[in-house]
Formats: sequence, structure tokens, C-alpha cells
Amino acid sequence: MNIPLLMTPGPTYVHEDVRRAMSTEIVNPDLDLQFYEFYKDTCGKLKQLMNTKNDVVILNGEGILGLEAACCSIIEPGDNILCIDNGVFGRGFGEFATIYGAHVTYFISDYHKGIDVSGLREFLKENNNFKAATLVHCETPSGITNAVDLICPMLKEYGIITIVDSVSAVGGERLYVDEWQMDIVIGGSQKCLSAPPGLAFLSISKLAWNKILNRKSPIAGFYCSLAHWKTWYEDKWFPYTPPVNDIYALREAVRRLLRDKTALERHRSAAGAVREGLIAAGLRLYPVESFSSTVTTVMLPEEVSFEELSSKLYEEHGIMLGGAFDFLKDRVIRIGHMGENCRNEKIYAVLKAFDHVLRSLGVELKANIHTVFEEIISHELKRGVC
Ligand SMILES: *Cc1c(COP(=O)(O)O)cnc(C)c1O
Repeated sequence: MNIPLLMTPGPTYVHEDVRRAMSTEIVNPDLDLQFYEFYKDTCGKLKQLMNTKNDVVILNGEGILGLEAACCSIIEPGDNILCIDNGVFGRGFGEFATIYGAHVTYFISDYHKGIDVSGLREFLKENNNFKAATLVHCETPSGITNAVDLICPMLKEYGIITIVDSVSAVGGERLYVDEWQMDIVIGGSQKCLSAPPGLAFLSISKLAWNKILNRKSPIAGFYCSLAHWKTWYEDKWFPYTPPVNDIYALREAVRRLLRDKTALERHRSAAGAVREGLIAAGLRLYPVESFSSTVTTVMLPEEVSFEELSSKLYEEHGIMLGGAFDFLKDRVIRIGHMGENCRNEKIYAVLKAFDHVLRSLGVELKANIHTVFEEIISHELKRGVC
């Protein structure tokens, strides 16, 4: 197989050390007590990454399993749930809640912007009888990061449990789970952590555990039930066999990330420079504010289709960028600059190819995207910012 330079907003490039860790010989994870320690240590590292003392559990499936497991375990039929929606994943959360019997109320916010915090504050004054609220930290399809630091404490003033999808933000954006009073926060292995796809992880507060373990109705699922994960360590029992190699890889990936003290700053500055380059060239971004530090969503110029652009990038430059689905399908192209892909030299190469291919398709650019990127980064490097 030809391996392209994978610059999609997940999965991301997996470092050789992580791949090596993944190929370590397996043990029997259910019987070997050493593995319980290894697993606990991995959860500990994830807690450190998320700035929380809450329990962290790891599930054997991608981020979506984490979202569904949170809804399945918290929601009882008839519960009022608030779905805060400013994009594809935000809205989708409401659909999961509906599957598990919730009465869902949507607070819909402009899809080109971060969630409207003051609008939400006003809304909550009149409407606050909710058991839980769902929201998304980074809306990956549109490239928007929401102010979860302001929103979660606001929801907690009304005693609303906060369920936050941070799959494409954790590791690339600031995240202070305890300080921001987030009850359930969901991450995935394949985005900013740059581990192989296959794992979801969730931090679960005491309050959330209370709701999960003291329900009137049983949890409508086994694989999606978080309840089985409360005492795995004390009982030395996993509800199902952990994917040993995926855990090996995840632990090494998180270890690498925790060692990298400049990761967040690098994400912020690289994302800023990418945007400057694109805008200087005359391209338009999908969001108008609240830009993500992990993914940039660019509007396709009218004269090119996603198909043409992405296949030329792939065939002529060996680069894979992301498209989008739902209402953004064929309207945007997405550059992932998260995790191991948040390296200036990689991003430079991608922008140079992007610039070249756009010109070859007849798009007139007002500046060289990569040159502007490089100028801004070198300026920041001189200032010691990144
Ligand atoms: C990637 C992602 C997920 C998980 O999707 P998978 O298909 O399971 O990888 C969930 N939420 C957001 C915001 C994501 O970016």
C-alpha cells in the first residue's frame, strides 16, 4: 500500500514509537494482574491530560461509542435533555439522546460561530428543567471550538449534568475538566492523541456516577453501559476483553503527548498561521469566529469540486485531506493539523501542495499560502511563542 501524508482531521499519523508499542507481545488481559496496573496507569495519564481527578474509563470502540455510551447510561426514558447544537456532531448528540427515550430540547446556535454563550444564558433563565445537556467541544466538520469553559459552569448553576464531546479537541485544545465542572467528557484515540483508531475514553464525575448507578430503569444495553466500569480495578474484572495492543498504543501516545510541553501552544500558533495563509490567498474559511486549533475548514472556491481537488492532492502529492459530510458535503475541504500532524514542516508541505493544485485548477490566489504560513511561524518562533 502507498501510505499518503495523512492530514485528515482523524485518523492522524501514528508515530513509530506508538506503532512499536502496539506490537508488544500480548498478555491475557483478564487474568494477568500486571495488565490491570498497566491499564490503571494509562487511565491516570489520560486524567493528567484532561486535568481531572474524576475516573477515566476506556471503551473498545471509537469516539462514537463514547457518545452513545454516555447517553445510554445517563438518560432514562422521559428525561428532559438539552441538546446544544451548532454543528453536525452537536445535532447528532440529540439523536442519540432520542434513541434512549429522552425528550430533547434543542438550543440551536449559528453554525458559522461558536455556541452563543449570552444567548444560552438568557435561554436558561426561562428553560432549565433539564437532567443533562449535550455539547461538543470542537465541531470537527466546521472547524469551530466552543467555549466549554464558560458554558459548562453556567449549566451547572442549574444543576444540569454536562456531557461534552471533546473527541477532536482533547490534546489539542485547553481542557480543564474539573475546573470547568464537566461531568462526562469523551475523547477518542485517533484525533489529537495520534493513536490508532479504535478506542474511546470518558471522564466521569461523582455526580454522573450517581445518576448512572441509581437509575429507576435498567440501562438499555450492555456494551454501551458505563455502569460495568465502576469497579473494574477493585474487582479485577473487565466487562469484556480489552484490546491489549490498542491500549499499549494509547498509553505510549499519551506518554508522548504529556512529555510535549508546547503541544497546545503549537496547535494554536499553527492553526493561526494556516488561517492567515489561506485568507491572504483570498480563500474563505467556513467559520467566522471561534476557530479550532486542531482543524481548519476552508470553503471550496466555486470553480473546483472536492473530488477534483482531493484526487489531485492525493495522486500528484501523496497528500490526503478531509472532505465533509451532511450539509457541508462538497462545500468545504478540511486540513487536520492535530496531534502528530501539528508539525510546521508537514503543514508547510501540505499548504504548498494545496496552493499548487488550486492554481493548476484555475483558481487565482492573491498570495502563496505556504509562504505566508512560513513567515508567520518564523516570526512566532523568533518571539519564542511556539
Ligand atoms: C471524530 C469525532 C467523533 C468520533 O467519530 P468516529 O467516527 O467514531 O471517529 C465524535 N465527535 C467528534 C466531534 C469527532 O470529531
